[in-house]
Amino acid sequence: MPKRNILLLTACAVLVSTFLIIPSSTTRFYLAVSIGLAAVAWLLVAFMSRRSGTSQESSGANVAGEKQTAGPVFPVSDLFEATLESMREGLLVVNSDMRVVASNKAALKLFNLSPPQLESQRLTELTRNPAIYSAFLDALKGIQRDSVKVEIHGPERQIYDLRVLPLGHTNGNGADGALGVFFNITRTERLELVRQEFLSNVSHELRTPLTAVMAFVETLENGAMEDRESSQRFLSIIRKNASRMHSLIDDILELTAIEGGNVQLRSATVELHPLVNDVIASLGAKAQAHGITLTNQVRADIRVYGDTRRLEQMLTNLVDNGIKFNRENGSVTIRYEGNSRDRLVVEDTGEGIPSQHLERLFERFYRVDRARSRDLGGTGLGLAIVKHLALLHGGEVTVTSELGKGTAFTIHLPRVAV
Ligand code: ADP
Repeated sequence: MPKRNILLLTACAVLVSTFLIIPSSTTRFYLAVSIGLAAVAWLLVAFMSRRSGTSQESSGANVAGEKQTAGPVFPVSDLFEATLESMREGLLVVNSDMRVVASNKAALKLFNLSPPQLESQRLTELTRNPAIYSAFLDALKGIQRDSVKVEIHGPERQIYDLRVLPLGHTNGNGADGALGVFFNITRTERLELVRQEFLSNVSHELRTPLTAVMAFVETLENGAMEDRESSQRFLSIIRKNASRMHSLIDDILELTAIEGGNVQLRSATVELHPLVNDVIASLGAKAQAHGITLTNQVRADIRVYGDTRRLEQMLTNLVDNGIKFNRENGSVTIRYEGNSRDRLVVEDTGEGIPSQHLERLFERFYRVDRARSRDLGGTGLGLAIVKHLALLHGGEVTVTSELGKGTAFTIHLPRVAV
């Protein structure tokens, strides 16, 4: 109840009770008149406010109506057509003869046709795909088909999730027509495939060192522990395999974080010469063990723009590979080349990489010589990490290689505010 009515009711109740208490009949008379007037006034107010409320409501409706009609008017057919045309999903309507009676732009694209070519064509003329045909046929029989997986081989292989509904009368004689909607699920399917491949690669990569660890532990348990020399050897094999699993898990987590967008760059102007010195220092012992010389050819005044830690990580991965895949007494040189972009080059004098491998080199777990990479403690993820970090910097990484001469990896960085 509105506040105003409550107040009026209270006032009337007070007046009535006062009227009953007062003994004088003249005063009672005047009070009765006042109460009567108050009641009439209240009734009037209530009546007026209801009227204005109703008229406000109806004028509200008018406003809305006016709003609808004041703006541009869209005929339903136009709206319907615009909706169909803007849909990403392909839409196809056929009649009971399986002839196309309506379609949208996405459907044309799907069948690789140009505008007037769909209407009144038979579905069989459009496609020979049995999955599509039988889904529409079922719908004409009154059976709705959901999640029909359809592959269409145009310029590119596309995968669709097709849903077909019966249209019109669906009693004994079947439907008058059928409406099919094609959802493109190519990307989702591709991602799912990549995920499955990744999982199976990871399991495979982990299984080898894990099997070795278990086998040597078993050998030790079965008596080899008594022989001090063999047990030392077995323990070092176990350690090597355990550390391989450790590196693998580290790299997987790192790559997943970078790819998942969970790595934030802290970019700033970086002095390149001391950074390269740090990389060389951290890999010095390994290089020495392989008889490899590491050279910093970056001028002392060179500055680039990037995340120090991530730049160091990229260079470390590349120099580490330069050491591992080098020949005896070879060398790895790090230098800077600048033009429109900053270029950090890591060049080695190793055996080089056959050209057919170059294209896939930055893929996860891709190796030229799998056994050798494993033997050298590699995870097959180093270059994928470099690639993703370079992309995160807004740059890229490229490779050139000459068999018998060596390989050069180049990190290209956009030149920003140096
Ligand atoms: P990993 O080094 O752990 O095997 P990477 O992703 O770092 O994995 O490298 C992938 C593969 O690319 C290596 O296994 C190797 O076959 C090849 N490769 C990388 N860098 C070089 C290089 N400097 N010289 C020759 N081959 C290389």
